[in-house]
Amino acid sequence: MSTEKVHCLIIGSGPAGYTAAIYASRAGLNPVLYQGIQPGGQLTITTEVENYPGYPDGIQGPEMMIHFENQAKRMGADIRYGLATKVDFSTRPLKVEIDEEQWIEADSIIISTGASAKWLGIESEQRLNGYGVSACAVCDGFFFKAKEVAIVGAGDTAAEEALYLSKICSQVHMIVRRHEMRASKVMQDRVVNTTNIKVYWNSETDEVMGDKKVEAVRIKNNQTGEKQEIPVSAFFVAIGHQPNSDIFKGLIDMDEAGYIKTIPGTSKTNVEGVFASGDVQDKIYRQAVTAAGSGCMAALDAERYLSEKGLH
Ligand code: NDP
Repeated sequence: MSTEKVHCLIIGSGPAGYTAAIYASRAGLNPVLYQGIQPGGQLTITTEVENYPGYPDGIQGPEMMIHFENQAKRMGADIRYGLATKVDFSTRPLKVEIDEEQWIEADSIIISTGASAKWLGIESEQRLNGYGVSACAVCDGFFFKAKEVAIVGAGDTAAEEALYLSKICSQVHMIVRRHEMRASKVMQDRVVNTTNIKVYWNSETDEVMGDKKVEAVRIKNNQTGEKQEIPVSAFFVAIGHQPNSDIFKGLIDMDEAGYIKTIPGTSKTNVEGVFASGDVQDKIYRQAVTAAGSGCMAALDAERYLSEKGLH
């Protein structure tokens, strides 16, 4: 196996990773960025992005990520296709294995591996993804202004997104699989006290209906077996996210869901020289703009760390 040595290794290619690459390049760290299996990250599976500042007319998610990549390349970042498959934080320099065939040694590492939305796993949900099926109400709710929409889930995210949608859409149909919600009491109270949110308890999604776009959702009461069709223009899935942090398990501090812990107000992890940015360390905001901001923080923190250690 060959080994290469770099100052700053960035893992992941969403808004956090590319922004870190832009800042690290301009700071002269000659960063190397490995893109992972989904170059561009979650934004490559969305359609229009209207809430990223600087694009007054909106932009398609995949196109925006090409802009990020091109900007990072223009600043001098070395962008490579490859997947981090193993890490070793016990030695200095730190070590990352790429594609199970090459080790990179790095003085600093920025983890920006993101998170993935969980899906129900039914065929119609996948077929209509991007055509009314979405895992992000804040991103896509606006496209369904004054329309009826459905949302599935019963955690804090689902409650928060249902409330967000209730301010934009005429009616929100919330599908909850048990007789109670997992969301915090205060969020539940807000949901049930919002007149244009209707909760369907003990209900599961049978099918998202529509040919080219979402037209209705068919739900099934899991106690009575009764089925019901609700006409809606969009179907939001809010059943949780999975941070892409498996390869770091046991090597870095994480919460019970696998989100990497950072020291508040910084991108520093408990491992010296390792920084985390974007959705892999953020289960609350999950926006492109917040991820980009935290990628900037990580590059600045890495730069400061390298200077303090006399490594740069
Ligand atoms: P959670 O894991 O907390 O909740 C997921 C919800 O989705 C559960 O209600 C679960 O149902 C439901 N669900 C899972 N799979 C299915 C399925 N196949 N069909 C139907 N329903 C399903 O995820 P969240 O994203 O809501 O929250 C993650 C963490 O982030 C939590 O700790 C939360 O408190 C926190 N958070 C905090 C916020 C804040 O403080 N402002 C905002 C958002 C999140 P069931 O209950 O039956 O298991």
